[in-house]
Amino acid sequence: MTKIDHLGIAVASIAAARGFYEALGLNVAQEETVEHEQVRTAMIPVGESRIELLEPLREDSVIGRFLQKRGPGLHHVALHVDDIGAALASLKARGARLISEKVQVGAGGHLYFFVHPASAGGVLLEICQESGQHDSGQHDSGPQPVSEPSE
Ligand code: ZN
Repeated sequence: MTKIDHLGIAVASIAAARGFYEALGLNVAQEETVEHEQVRTAMIPVGESRIELLEPLREDSVIGRFLQKRGPGLHHVALHVDDIGAALASLKARGARLISEKVQVGAGGHLYFFVHPASAGGVLLEICQESGQHDSGQHDSGPQPVSEPSE
């Protein structure tokens, strides 16, 4: 299912920012450090979507520079797709400007790549997909036939 997976919001400090969301009855489900992006993230489930707080580990990281230039705020929008390889190929075929030319593996094994704002209406767009497509208990496309050979 294609949906808004999460909204990435740059903050100076997750510890300082999370209280606001907790006051709304939301909770941080998982925090992790993504070394190669020099960022610490906190995922806050909001219904079917999530808010991803992004705290820079270093001032000269991508998020660190974003904060210096613009201050805290919306950094990217992430779309969940079922077939990230097909999404990448399709965008490449359209000549979309990508931040990186191939799918990357994030913490927890999920797959992602970023589309440059120049090709996405001025919004930094993340396309993502879970690693294994085996999220049991989540059926999003109607009744699943119980393995019954047709005819
Ligand atoms: Zn993200």
